[in-house]
Formats: sequence, C-alpha cells, structure tokens
Amino acid sequence: LPWTEDVSQLMAQRLSPWITQTLRRLGRRAEEMSLKAYVVGGFVRDLLLGKENQDLDIVIEGDALAFIKSWETDGCKVAVHERYKTGTIVFPGDKKVDVATARREFYEYPVALPKVAGDSLKHDLYRRDFTVNSMAISINRTSWGTLIDYFGGRRDLQSRQLRVLHNLSFVEDPTRVLRGLRLKQRLGFEFEDNTFRLIKSAVKGGLLGLLSGTRVKNELKLIFMEEKVYPIVLEMVRLNIFEALFSGIKVDRNCIRIVRRLSFFLRRLRYDLPDIEEDVWLAFLAAVIFSSADWVQHATLDKLHLSKSNREIVEKALDDLGTAENAIGGKGMRSYEEIYLFLRDAPYVTALFWAAATQQWRVRRRILLYLTRLHRVNPILMGRDLVELGYPKGPLIGKILEELLLARLRGEVETREDEIKWVKNNYPLYVLKKG
Ligand code: ATP
Repeated sequence: LPWTEDVSQLMAQRLSPWITQTLRRLGRRAEEMSLKAYVVGGFVRDLLLGKENQDLDIVIEGDALAFIKSWETDGCKVAVHERYKTGTIVFPGDKKVDVATARREFYEYPVALPKVAGDSLKHDLYRRDFTVNSMAISINRTSWGTLIDYFGGRRDLQSRQLRVLHNLSFVEDPTRVLRGLRLKQRLGFEFEDNTFRLIKSAVKGGLLGLLSGTRVKNELKLIFMEEKVYPIVLEMVRLNIFEALFSGIKVDRNCIRIVRRLSFFLRRLRYDLPDIEEDVWLAFLAAVIFSSADWVQHATLDKLHLSKSNREIVEKALDDLGTAENAIGGKGMRSYEEIYLFLRDAPYVTALFWAAATQQWRVRRRILLYLTRLHRVNPILMGRDLVELGYPKGPLIGKILEELLLARLRGEVETREDEIKWVKNNYPLYVLKKG
C-alpha cells in the first residue's frame, strides 16, 4: 500500500487560481465518467518543494482517450495519440494539459519504443525516472488532494536525493542519466549512492551510445537551456558522458572555459542581449565540440540531426572564429561601422560563441559591444519620412536608410534634425530630379 497524505491545504495555499480551477474541472469530469484522475510527476514534486510549476501532467485510470475527447465540446482543442493512449487538452488561453492513460510499458530491448498495455497507477508511476517524480495527487472530488507515494518520493525530497525506482532504470531508458544530471543541478539535489553507481555503470557499459540522435539532441537542448549550464557540463565531463554519447569527442579545458564564459555572458548580459532564447543551446554545443577533430565535429552534428539552419549556426561558429578575429581584432582602432558590417552577417548565437571562444579580449569586447548595443542601432527617420521629404518610393529609400544607419554608427548624426540635414546633403533632391 502506498503512503498517502492529505495535501489539499497545501494546494489551496500554493496553487494559482487557474491551476486549481482546472484541476477541479478535470477531476469532476473524471468522476462523471467513472474514471480516476491524478496529477503526477514534476508538478507534484514542485508543489511539495514550494516551487511554481504550470505543467499539468494528468494520469487517468481507465480510458484517457474518451476523457480527452470529451473536452472538445467545452471549447477546448484536443489532440490524441491513439497508439500511446495519450493526448493534450488545450484550454482557452492556450493553456495545455497533458493526459495519459495509466500504463505499464514493456521494453522489449533497451531503447525501444514502448508498447502500451493498459494498467494501473502504480505501474505507471513505477516506470518514471526518479522517486521524487513518481508521486501522484488524486483530483477526483471524493479524494481531492490525496498524495499517493508508493516509492518513497517524500522521503527523498526531504533528504534532497535523486533515486531511481529500480536497478534497471537506466537500462530501460538511458536518457534518464541526462535528465538526472539536469534535475540534480536544477533542484540542488544529490544522487543517492546506488543511483550514482548505476549512472557510472550505465556510462561504462556504453548505454548512452545506444540512444538515437534525436533523443540525445532533445536532452542536450534541455540541459543547454537550463539556468546554470556550467556546473552540469562540468559534471558531465567528470563522468565522461560526452565520450559515451559521441565517440572520439574531446572536451578539454578550452571547451570548458568557453562554456563558463557563455554562462557568464548569459547571466550578466541577459537583458542586453538580442533575443536568442531558442538558439542559445547551439553555442554550448559548439563549445563542447570545439576541441575535437573535424571528423568528430561532423559526425556529432550528423548524429544529432540538426536542422539546416541550426547546423549552419554551429559550423559558422567553429569554422569562422579565425576570420572574425582577423576582421575585428588587432590593436588598432576598429570603428563601430567596421564591427557592425562584419558581425551583422553572422547569427547572434554565432557571434556570442566567438565572444566566448576567442583568446583576444579586444575581439570579445567588440563582439559584446555589438550584441548589447550596435545591433539595435537604427536611424530615427523611417521610410515614410523620406517620402514626405520628396524622395520617390522604391529601393532608393532603403539605400538611404542603410547609409544613414552607418552614418549614425560613425557618429555623424545624433538627432532627427541631424538626420534630415544629412540626407539632404548626401542625396540632394535636385540631383535626383535631374538624374
Ligand atoms: P521539466 O520541468 O524539466 O520538464 P519535469 O519533471 O516536469 O521536468 P517532463 O519532461 O515534463 O519533466 O516529464 C514529466 C514527468 O514524466 C517527469 O516528472 C517524469 O516523472 C516523467 N518522465 C519524463 N521523462 C522520463 C523518462 N525518460 N523516463 C522516465 N520518466 C520520465
């Protein structure tokens, strides 16, 4: 029998009105359909830790597909995977709730796609990654707020430990090693001793090398988008995780230094950098393969199946560092205009990587200047102002605005009046009319 506890008070105190209301509605519907519904996983963990989490994962004992589809008539959008008996309900306001059928997965061999065979909550929870993620809270009306803990999740939350549910956990799914490293850092937990041993033997046994490139990419991306990437990468290096994932890779002190700088820039300059949220992980990826042989770099990128544009970002980062250093490095003065003209042809993330990877502090400073300021320099005048001044609509307008921007970078114009004067001087209207 599981450990149970009433956490309805805690829910009332900590959950936002939308979350509470949604859980109540879901629970009422389940009750009407004679199903049992639970909120599970990271949401429960974070509730007990007092952390905000908006991701609702619902598990249904019974037919989740019918449950999900029933929301269509309530103005929700729904999507189902018939095969996995899972789906998503999207409530108005684009709020998503994932719903799954309580299930037991049989793994035919490691890393295979799971087959689904209907079963109960305990089995569902048993196939999760760590005990702290294996708790459920009942949301049916009659048992609202009952915490269900089969595997000691509460105890491990209290002692701040990540513990797998059984010794074959990493054999079943080696991505759990990567999830564990991420979660450990995020929560500030430790691995329980046996779990840590299992991680080391999963790495030694080559299990991580069996994962598909797409799964590795998804997990790496999550790691590289965490708040604190540097300590996770350090631990991955210590445990030889990268070598286990990509044969021949060499993550040396240079790579680690670049990762540390990237983390530093992202933390210190967060609000001054252009919006690179989505791509920032590519800079970290470039950093960890920076010191590897060309063929290893290519093999790694092949394995990860990056999109064409993502691949270009990483390749340009690695291949053109020297070009960038030549173009905007050196002791001599470099004008804003020069810096701008070179860097505007590179994706922001590529430039950020160069700033972290270069050994030349002048290059670093110039790139950071570009990323925090120069990239957003624009003329005050707009196309329609130029039309009002008498310039013909068409490509000329674009050219004038471009020249005006460079003039601004050279410090030739400051105010709107300066700009008008500059335009009239450099593109006199009478010349245009004659020409
Ligand atoms: P995050 O906030 O990083 O998404 P999370 O714990 O909410 O963390 P999800 O990726 O949303 O994680 O997954 C939801 C739940 O599914 C987790 O809490 C975990 O119990 C379970 N889970 C996810 N991936 C695995 C896996 N590979 N093996 C076992 N359980 C998993």
